[in-house]
Amino acid sequence: MSRNVTWDRGVSLPEHAIWFDPEVTRALAVVTHAHTDHSRRHRETYLTAETLALTAPSRRPKAARVLPLEAEQPVGGGKLTLVAAGHMLGSAQVFFEAPGGRLLYTGDLKLRGPRPVRMPAADVLVIESTYGRPHFLFPDHETVVEAIATWCRRVLAEGVTPVLLCHAIGKAQEVMLALAPYGIRFALEARCLPGTEAYREAGEAIPDYVELVPGEDYSNRVVIAPPAGKAAIRRLHRYRCALVSGWAQDRHFRAIFGADVAFPLSDHCDFQELLDAVDLVGPEQVYTVHGFTEDLARQLRRRGVRASGLRGVEQLALALT
Ligand SMILES: [Zn+2]
Repeated sequence: MSRNVTWDRGVSLPEHAIWFDPEVTRALAVVTHAHTDHSRRHRETYLTAETLALTAPSRRPKAARVLPLEAEQPVGGGKLTLVAAGHMLGSAQVFFEAPGGRLLYTGDLKLRGPRPVRMPAADVLVIESTYGRPHFLFPDHETVVEAIATWCRRVLAEGVTPVLLCHAIGKAQEVMLALAPYGIRFALEARCLPGTEAYREAGEAIPDYVELVPGEDYSNRVVIAPPAGKAAIRRLHRYRCALVSGWAQDRHFRAIFGADVAFPLSDHCDFQELLDAVDLVGPEQVYTVHGFTEDLARQLRRRGVRASGLRGVEQLALALT
């Protein structure tokens, strides 16, 4: 494998003519999960069946090559394997092996969440750095879920509607699954419906929900809505908003999204998980993409790891719509 990794509107191995999560049309692409499908016209697109199902029909790739996790596929002069990423339903890392080396591209990654994840050893690691600054340290998943459930029950007991502000695809459904054992029933803003239906069709145990109808009263349900564009929420009688995001640890964010409280439940690695991921893979070279690329690369170099930032798009706007 050529170890030449570049950022060219997507992570690219130029000698193998393959792109990971490209933002523009390419001949050969791997789409790691349903947040990153920017183009539907790649000549060949490798992805999981669940990622395909979670992608809006109008944005589905025309030449989709569905690949199950852990199935080895010859492509681009090497062997491609999709590996569980722990980020959301269908999310995958890319493991690419060719004579000369092994590369792992994480895409969006979560080590300590409820979903399976595997970190194979590789010579080159391209890792996301969304929360690549040391102050991003999240409490464990169960503790945050418990805090969200307690807050929802308290707000409901006051006769007020709790509103959880979550990304419409992935996060909304993961939050519903996490809160299912608490017997909470949901009303979903329209943008959260397609993802929820795709989760249910994939066999996930999604709890009871109805569609939020603007102007109606929801005194016994928890509303889930995306953080941006809250027209339907403002028509609720009495409500209180909680932002559910790793950005809860950034105090400016609560105010930006008009949330009363914020819970740091993230489907991304926090700073310590990123360091742990690098340890598990044991690479000779690390490249960081997305978010705080230079910060994470600097922190890794301080720990004796060869690391540098690849340019990446800021995903914040995407993550919060
Ligand atoms: Zn994502």
